[in-house]
Amino acid sequence: MEDCIFCKIIRGEIPAKKEYETDSIFVFHDITPQAPIHLLIIPKAHIKSMNEIDSLDPKVIHQIFEVIPELAKKNGIFEKGYRVVNNCGTYGGQTVGHLHFHLLGGRHLQWPPG
Ligand code: 5GP
Ligand code: ZN
Repeated sequence: MEDCIFCKIIRGEIPAKKEYETDSIFVFHDITPQAPIHLLIIPKAHIKSMNEIDSLDPKVIHQIFEVIPELAKKNGIFEKGYRVVNNCGTYGGQTVGHLHFHLLGGRHLQWPPG
């Protein structure tokens, strides 16, 4: 997608602190971290939101979730715990229209969210 900021990050047109990459997924640090560790895990395929998850290859969905505990280990948050978040749509608080999962950790996160 031409104008999508996350597609631009994947293509290297916008700089980002890359954490991990495969042929089908990309992981980078959130520009406005909400916790000591705040990563964004995205498919390289441009999927707008969780509502379109059906159009994503199930192998890629599996890859996304499989890598999460690995990223948690690598970032020292595996033992104490962490949170995986997807914001979908306006009421869900989604601000970027490219499916992404937040991985947050490194502090005690509150619940419920605001
Ligand atoms: P959402 O609110 O859609 O769930 O999450 C979008 C996230 O993308 C936000 O946490 C925001 O800080 C992050 N973000 C927006 N623009 C950029 C950017 O250009 N670079 C990086 N690394 N993160 C971004
Ligand atoms: Zn995109």
